[in-house]
Amino acid sequence: MKALIVIDFTNDFVDGNLPVGEPAINIQNTIAELTKSYSDRGDFVVMAVDLHEHNDAYHPETKLFPPHNIRGTRGRELYGELQQVYEERKDAIYWMDKTRYSAFCGTDLNQKLRERGITEVDLVGVCTDICVLHTAVDAYNYGYRITIYEDAVASFNPEGHKWALSHFQGSLGASVVRSKELLNQ
Ligand code: ZN
Repeated sequence: MKALIVIDFTNDFVDGNLPVGEPAINIQNTIAELTKSYSDRGDFVVMAVDLHEHNDAYHPETKLFPPHNIRGTRGRELYGELQQVYEERKDAIYWMDKTRYSAFCGTDLNQKLRERGITEVDLVGVCTDICVLHTAVDAYNYGYRITIYEDAVASFNPEGHKWALSHFQGSLGASVVRSKELLNQ
């Protein structure tokens, strides 16, 4: 069994309060298709979704970013096609709130993966150089093999995106692949 971790692909991060914009809008179909494909194969699919409380003075991101992904808001719902895919397959997909960049920080993700005997995590979502990066670093430290779909990650920062892709490969030993081969099988 493999795991697909879909990171922060919400309205706020795509075209809402803290938007990646065009590069994220352009990957929505690929993310939706990968989610369907992994879920149809019985793999472990995780929606790792940033969660903030309204006016949380103690959260470190409060000083860094405008309010985003506030509990109960539309901004925190999955973007576009992915929301529909999730609605259709709710029972088979693990929705996981996270409150830091890494999907491993303060969550039970590591336990969920270990219980299932999963040794490889495949990452998609936004932003390549923030939440995807921090999740990949933790996955590396926990000893997981990592695959990144380069056509299913995006950032508002083109330089950061590029740098992160090379860091995944060169420093985390990740496979950086395109979704095409998997989806055409
Ligand atoms: Zn956040």
